[in-house]
Amino acid sequence: MNLDAHWMPFTANKAFKQKPVLMESSSGMYWTSEQGDTLLDMTSGLWCTNLGHSPARVAEAMYEASRNLGYVPSFNLGHRASFELAERLTELAPGNLDHVFFTNSGSEAVDTALKIAMAYHAARGESGRNLFIARERAYHGVNMGGTSVAGIRANTRQFHRWGEVDHLPHTHDLARNAFSRGLPAHGVEKAQALNDLIALHGSDRIAAVLVEPVAGAGGVLPPPAGYLRALREICDEHGILLIFDEVVTAFGRVGAFTASIEFDVIPDMFTSAKGLTSGAVPMGATFCSADIYQTVVNSEEGIELWHGYTYSAHPIACAAASACLDIYLEESLFTRVNEGIGREFEDAVHSLADLPQVVDIRNYGLLAAIEFAPNADGLPYGTQIFRKGLESGLMVRGAGDSVILSPPLIMESRHLDEFVEKVRSVAKVIWE
Ligand code: PMP
Repeated sequence: MNLDAHWMPFTANKAFKQKPVLMESSSGMYWTSEQGDTLLDMTSGLWCTNLGHSPARVAEAMYEASRNLGYVPSFNLGHRASFELAERLTELAPGNLDHVFFTNSGSEAVDTALKIAMAYHAARGESGRNLFIARERAYHGVNMGGTSVAGIRANTRQFHRWGEVDHLPHTHDLARNAFSRGLPAHGVEKAQALNDLIALHGSDRIAAVLVEPVAGAGGVLPPPAGYLRALREICDEHGILLIFDEVVTAFGRVGAFTASIEFDVIPDMFTSAKGLTSGAVPMGATFCSADIYQTVVNSEEGIELWHGYTYSAHPIACAAASACLDIYLEESLFTRVNEGIGREFEDAVHSLADLPQVVDIRNYGLLAAIEFAPNADGLPYGTQIFRKGLESGLMVRGAGDSVILSPPLIMESRHLDEFVEKVRSVAKVIWE
């Protein structure tokens, strides 16, 4: 097989194609490669297969939908499943986040939120509010809106930002918060940087503040206690919208349907994707408040929001999301994380503090990072553990100096035992 034609995303194409690792099947917590090797997945793929791999019920629901009503657009036409799904989802959402716009990915959900924010301010006669404030180390997808607000430098290096953007400092603080379990105690004062940016730019120019409640790809950074609430209060004082990017954190990853519920801070909009269909098929969703929806919808005659995707609310995706929701609710998976398995995960991850070169371990729900000291002599240790892990049947995410974990919510104790044993044997190979 010639691997050349497929330009792989976020991949070192030349290196991968010399030594490809190809999966053939998946089930529960494992992938199986073409060579028949199994791989314990401690990443939920890309933070998405919250229900584990290939749940049969979801596949059946998708098959049924595709035979019945394979496709129908959602522009001025509709199908029942999309309205039912929207109703179920918004009933679970906190506060008055009563409306949901369907997309096909997290990136699209983010760009949709940015555009809705602009449409909202324009509808209120404040079309000068076009500046977005995000955070250093933020990942908000890769479309042009998300790229423009991105805080991870590598993701903007090759491109020009579009639009007006500024950044709050990230909250990672090794000196004060290393080895925190749950929310770090120090750093609430970093929210005050928002007041500085408001003074700098003028509050009448700022459309929204966009944050991941727990920064994911930037290194799993749980927010300091009180930090998100402080942002909420400052936004409220200045008529600035607060958007949570919950593409990673929604659907049970932090112990509730959303991080906003878990942390008891309600944004004006939040994005989701990933766990929405547990990775079975692409789908994203942007939730917004009744105020935002009513303001935009009542400000225009005819089409109220000039935005949407050919595959918004695709029948197969709606069927998948609805089947996933059934499973999440029947098995109480949103809250499982803060009960038994979340505690076991926390203990297992922190038990690795004695590995060489570890400078921090942090976690919230089923998210964790193990950070190593920078390696002056070669590849970062996070990358080394990822690579050696693959050779020994373990999938973790290597993010430079850190190893990132986001296992499926269906994980059992035995998988944690297997994980700890495998990491320790990989560490032996690297450090002995
Ligand atoms: N926002 C966040 C917080 C994410 O972590 C991601 C994906 N990792 C995205 C947006 C983009 O999602 P997608 O890859 O589905 O476009």
